[in-house]
Amino acid sequence: MSVHNILTVDLEDWYHICGVDQVLPEADWPDLESRVEQNTLKILDILRRRTITATFFVLGYIADRHGELIRKIHRDGHEIATHGYAHRRVYTMTQDEFRRDLKQAIDTITRITGRPIKGYRAPEWSVRNDSLWALDILRQEGFAYDSSMAPLPIIGNSAYPRAPHRLVLNEGHIWEFPPLTAYTPLINLPVGGGWGLRVFPYRLIHRSIEKFNRNGEPAVIYVHPREFDHNPPRVKLPLSKLFVLHARVVTTPERLERLLDDFPFTSISTVLEKKTVAFQRRHMYKEKFS
Ligand SMILES: [Zn+2]
Repeated sequence: MSVHNILTVDLEDWYHICGVDQVLPEADWPDLESRVEQNTLKILDILRRRTITATFFVLGYIADRHGELIRKIHRDGHEIATHGYAHRRVYTMTQDEFRRDLKQAIDTITRITGRPIKGYRAPEWSVRNDSLWALDILRQEGFAYDSSMAPLPIIGNSAYPRAPHRLVLNEGHIWEFPPLTAYTPLINLPVGGGWGLRVFPYRLIHRSIEKFNRNGEPAVIYVHPREFDHNPPRVKLPLSKLFVLHARVVTTPERLERLLDDFPFTSISTVLEKKTVAFQRRHMYKEKFS
């Protein structure tokens, strides 16, 4: 049986960038030109032509201002998950602030779609060892999965598992879907999205997905609407941020189409349903024969 890989979109505008509050403070966002709609329509068009469903991690801030866009994504059959409300990194918030931000996102999005949300992705993969409490809060708020822990140095932790896995919590459990990384003896490489998907050789990304699939595991790919912008607004940012945002940005649409040509893709919820059934079967088998 062929393994379906996972395509995800972080639905945010071009100015939702972590750690640049000096240049793009939250108070200025309403006055900035919004480009999320036109860029998301390009992604939806690619997916519609190939009848692929994906998971959209919708920022509550965007849902508040672009309800019709969220309705369209939902109508097209994609999974609507959330990226929080105000694009704050989890470890910069208190537990109460995180819960408030999460609830505000849930309220805003479910008012539009009328459907419960199963999945969460933190801005900049910010569920780390110092913010693992977020997983318990997600579970308490009814989430079935998280996709916020990167098996990468600096941004996450190289020791985190690279494939989707089930995490046992204080109460219950939650599934974790890490972004695709390429293993090297020195360091895991971020080939699943962002600058890594654009800059590393395509054959490395292709090989990494093949390896995951051979082990029966899906690879998680992620893109942002701003990576489909032919003329993205430029602001004065640190060089490292400019690289992350703009390096070879024109290659994203072409790389995405190539991946969709080479591998089958679907949403996280579709994969999760199969994983849950397989897990329960294994569990029942163990109980029966142990
Ligand atoms: Zn984001």
